[in-house]
Amino acid sequence: MPNDVGSQWNAAELVEAAREHLISPAEEMAKLGTVTRPMLTTGDGVYVTNAQGRRLLDGPAGMWCTQIGYNRREIADAISAQALRLSYNSPWYSVNGPSAELAARIASLTPGDLDHVFFTTGGSSAVDSALRFVQFYNNVLGRPDKKTILCRIDGYHGSTHLTAACSGRAGNRPNFDLALDTVSFLSAPNVYRRPKGMTEADFLEFLIGEFEDRVAAIGPDRIGAFLAEPLLASGGILIPPEGYHRRILDICRRHDILYISDEVVTGFGRCGHWFASEAVFGITPDIITFAKGVTSGYVPLGGFALSDAVLARVSGENAKGSFYTNGYTYSGHPVSCAAALANIEVIERDGILAHVRDIAPYFQEQIRSLKQLPLVGDTRGTGLVACVECVTDPAAPEATDFDKEVSRRIDHHCYELGLIVRPIGNMCVLSPPLVITKAEIDSLIAILRRSIVLTQDELRAEGRW
Ligand code: PMP
Repeated sequence: MPNDVGSQWNAAELVEAAREHLISPAEEMAKLGTVTRPMLTTGDGVYVTNAQGRRLLDGPAGMWCTQIGYNRREIADAISAQALRLSYNSPWYSVNGPSAELAARIASLTPGDLDHVFFTTGGSSAVDSALRFVQFYNNVLGRPDKKTILCRIDGYHGSTHLTAACSGRAGNRPNFDLALDTVSFLSAPNVYRRPKGMTEADFLEFLIGEFEDRVAAIGPDRIGAFLAEPLLASGGILIPPEGYHRRILDICRRHDILYISDEVVTGFGRCGHWFASEAVFGITPDIITFAKGVTSGYVPLGGFALSDAVLARVSGENAKGSFYTNGYTYSGHPVSCAAALANIEVIERDGILAHVRDIAPYFQEQIRSLKQLPLVGDTRGTGLVACVECVTDPAAPEATDFDKEVSRRIDHHCYELGLIVRPIGNMCVLSPPLVITKAEIDSLIAILRRSIVLTQDELRAEGRW
C-alpha cells in the first residue's frame, strides 16, 4: 500500500531518489545531485503539507494553476469514473464524450466567435499549436512569407522549440538553439520600469508607436501573428497601460495579423472571469490559448480556441484540399477533459468567479500596503495575481543581483513561516488558489510582511543596506 507520500518508499528514500534521478524543469546543472527540493506530500484547500509535516499556504497556486484548491472529491471522482469508463481513445478517428462536451463548454465561455477548440497536453503545446495554426493558415491562404511572430521582451509562452523562441525572458535563453528567425521582440509594457521622464500616457504612445514602426519595418505581408499574455505573468505581473491591447488589436486587424491572447495564466478565473481578454482588457482576439486552470492542475490539459471567422478562411470551400495535422496522441484526452468539466462545474456551482471579483480588491489593497516597507519598490496586480518587487536602489534602471538575493531571502523566510512564494528574479509573485478566504489572505500578507521586515533587519545587521 502506498503511504502518505504516495509511494512504497519512505520520504527519505524518495528525497534521495529525486536527488539521484530526477531532472527538474529548472536545474542548475553544476549543482545536479546536490540540491534537495522540498517534498510536498498532501494538499487541502489552499494549503499543502511537506514531508516534515509542515503546513504551507500555497501562494502561487502551484504554478498559477490550482484554482479550486486541493483535495476536491468532485475532481477525483470525475477522473476515477472516466478512467474506468474509457481511459483513452484515438482522437484521430474517434471522439470521446468529455472532449466533445468540453469543447462546447469552452466555446460558450470564450468571447465572440471563438467557437472551435483544439486540445493539447499543456500550455506550451497549446501555444505551439496556435502558432503552427498560424503557419498552416497563411500557407493555405497562399501567403508563405506571412510568418513572423511579434512578441514582447519578458513574455513567457512555453518550452517547445517555437514557444521558447517567443519567450523574451533572458533567464530562459542560455544554451538553447531558438527559432529566433521567425520572432521579433517588442518592448515589455512595464509601467514601473518605463523610461525616466515618461508619463504612463507617453509610455502607451511609445509602445503603440513601436508596434506600428515594427509592422512597417518588417512589412505586414511578412507578419503572421502577435502573441501576447493579457498581463505578463512570469515576466513579473506586468499590466499594460489602459487601452494597449485594444489599440494593438486595431493595428493587427488593419494588417490581417492574427492576435493570439495567451491566457494560460489568466484563463479560468484568475482575474474573476473565465477569460481576461474581453472581460478585463476589452478585446476579442482571434485565438485564445489556455491550460493550467482548465483542470485546476489536477491533470494536464491545454488547448486553443479559434475564431469561426478565421477558421472559415481555411476550411470548407476555402480549404483548397488542405489537410490540418497537429497530431497529438492525447488531444482531448477523456480523463483530462472529464476533470476539466468537473472543474468548470465546481467553479460555477460555488460561484468562484464572483468570489474572486469580491475578494480581489481586498487582496490587492493588502498587497499595496506592503509598499510602505523600504525594501519594496513596487507592488502591482489585478484579480488574484500580484507581485511585490524588491528594490534596494530605487535609481537602478534594472533589478540588481542584490535585489534578487533580497527576494530569495524573503522567500526563504516565508517558507519557514508557512507560506510558499514564487520567486522570480527580484519579485515575490503571488497567485493563490481562487478559493482563498479573507482570513487566509490576512495570514498570507502577515507572513509576507514579517518576512520582508526580517530580511530588512538582517541586511541592516550585516551592514549591507
Ligand atoms: N503561457 C504562459 C503565459 C505561461 O505562463 C506558461 C507556463 N507558466 C505557458 C504558456 C506554458 O505552459 P506549460 O508550462 O503548461 O507548458
